[in-house]
Amino acid sequence: MRKLLLPLASCLLAACWAGGVPRVAPEGAPSDGGARVTARSEPRPVAQSRDVRRSGSAMPAAPSHGPSSGDPEAATAANAARGATEIEALKEMELMVPVDGIAPAQIPDTYWSKRDNGRLHRAADIMAPKGTPVVAPSEGIVLKVGRNQTGGIVVYTTDTERRFVFYHAHLDRIADGLADGATLRQGDLLGYVGTTGNAPPNAPHLHFQVMRMPADGRYWEGMPVDVRPFLLKPGRAR
Ligand SMILES: [Zn+2]
Repeated sequence: MRKLLLPLASCLLAACWAGGVPRVAPEGAPSDGGARVTARSEPRPVAQSRDVRRSGSAMPAAPSHGPSSGDPEAATAANAARGATEIEALKEMELMVPVDGIAPAQIPDTYWSKRDNGRLHRAADIMAPKGTPVVAPSEGIVLKVGRNQTGGIVVYTTDTERRFVFYHAHLDRIADGLADGATLRQGDLLGYVGTTGNAPPNAPHLHFQVMRMPADGRYWEGMPVDVRPFLLKPGRAR
């Protein structure tokens, strides 16, 4: 598997696919299965944890319980405190790599890679042979089993406290019997790695994105989080 994964991972790192023909960081590279949020948000690489929303459609720019908007220093401190709390919550979940048999160190860092329309990837691509089990990264609940144009066959899940949204895309198929609202244990089968949506046919992988759950519950519009540092356990199907 390693022989297969390394060239593919290298290809991904260079954002080099376009119908299987390698080239370097094209502006028109596939959007690669991003949840709909990524099409409408305006990522700010330097200010990842200071999640002031730019789209303005789903959340206010500052939390209603936070300091007044007239005090930028206090607002920054409040955002930093919120970010620290989120980091603690992510650590406490001891997330599992959501692909069976894959260790955290095998996932290349493509979070800030460019995709089409000048957007950024803001997700992890986990390379694995087609048919490899995709598993729940945390205990929690299935939010939605569905399909969309870029992601193909997708599953959204959340943790037990509904703080984060986990988006799994490009699945070959869904696990038998998996339905919206199902409860999950970490490692439970969600589906199988594939190439549905805009994944290159010769590079099966799981597009895995973690987002903060928006206050209004519109889980597909959450602010992305770089999850790689928080994937502590290798993937292992129950
Ligand atoms: Zn991806």
